[in-house]
Amino acid sequence: MFPKSYDEARARFLASSESLKRRYPRAEMRSFNVPSAKDPNLFVDEIYIPGKKALLMLTSGVHGLEASLGSAAQLEFMSETIHLALEKGAGVYIVHCLNPYGWKYARRVTEENINLNRNFGTTPETFRTPNEGYLRLAPEIERNEKARHDLLHPFKTLKFLATRLFKKEFTSRTLTQAIAQGQFTNPRGLEYGGREQTPQARNLTERFKQVQNGYDEIIHIDFHTGLGKRNRLHLLTGFDQEKCVHPETFKRLFRAKDEAHLYKFNSGDEDGFYRTVGDINMMTAECAPGKKVVALTFEFGTLGTGLIANGRALSRLWLENRGTQNGFASKKDEQKIKAKFRDLFEPQDPAWQKNALDITHTVLRQVVERL
Ligand SMILES: [Zn+2]
Repeated sequence: MFPKSYDEARARFLASSESLKRRYPRAEMRSFNVPSAKDPNLFVDEIYIPGKKALLMLTSGVHGLEASLGSAAQLEFMSETIHLALEKGAGVYIVHCLNPYGWKYARRVTEENINLNRNFGTTPETFRTPNEGYLRLAPEIERNEKARHDLLHPFKTLKFLATRLFKKEFTSRTLTQAIAQGQFTNPRGLEYGGREQTPQARNLTERFKQVQNGYDEIIHIDFHTGLGKRNRLHLLTGFDQEKCVHPETFKRLFRAKDEAHLYKFNSGDEDGFYRTVGDINMMTAECAPGKKVVALTFEFGTLGTGLIANGRALSRLWLENRGTQNGFASKKDEQKIKAKFRDLFEPQDPAWQKNALDITHTVLRQVVERL
């Protein structure tokens, strides 16, 4: 069942962790208080139950508002599948809601407007990665005006993009990358990755370096929603697929050809997808050198793929950011823009939710059976 709010999800996660700790006394629970100017009750909670050979790591809520599916999947895993994983001798590391501010205040980003999935760079150079394309689009994207709900905004967004393509300023590939890969220069803009790791990214990175010790295989699944076909699970990975997806381990755990009814593996170079700089999957690969790593994003689609769906998605991201940065034209504009934004990343449709959770459960169960 999907948690209705961050606070409810956190209470359920802690209760479930306590009950696991009673059954497996070697379990370690930790909570990290995310520094905030606004709210002292924002925590990233985790449970680690040590094992041998393979480590299964499940993370949720990197993109705040997208957390409810990941949280529901983690809770279901903790009540069922985890026992099989532990019987098989695997270690299990579950990190709940890496961006509690985002979930609680209905944003994808942190309180500092940082996209956490561009904030896991393990070297200072990552935070200096240039994005010339974004800088060319920024004057329009970051225009200093109040956000107004406008039924035509998705079409205006498409026109804005199409003009850039028509003028040959971009190809569709470089345009997607410019908008989505992350940028490290404009704190009020879209997909800002910060100037250094945020406290919660640093905390996870340091903790993961300890936890991964002693394992041969690391399987990391990070839950997201929004991108891709509606009702479809997409398996994506970090910036460098070779580092993030060990081919033999992946083939053993995921029989992608036979399981096309459950999910599709999409490389970041495919149409409609993109490569991300400073993502969490790359952090996993870089902090577990020499290990057989399979670090994946489980992304459940909501709007669909294709030009029109992409225009609609960008329009919603754009207006929500504009409203947050410059204010909304009216209370009604704010409500409408926020409702559309939520619908993109946290659909309330029970059929969508049930399907997403059923598929996630099935795929996780298969992974554990094949560990
Ligand atoms: Zn996401």
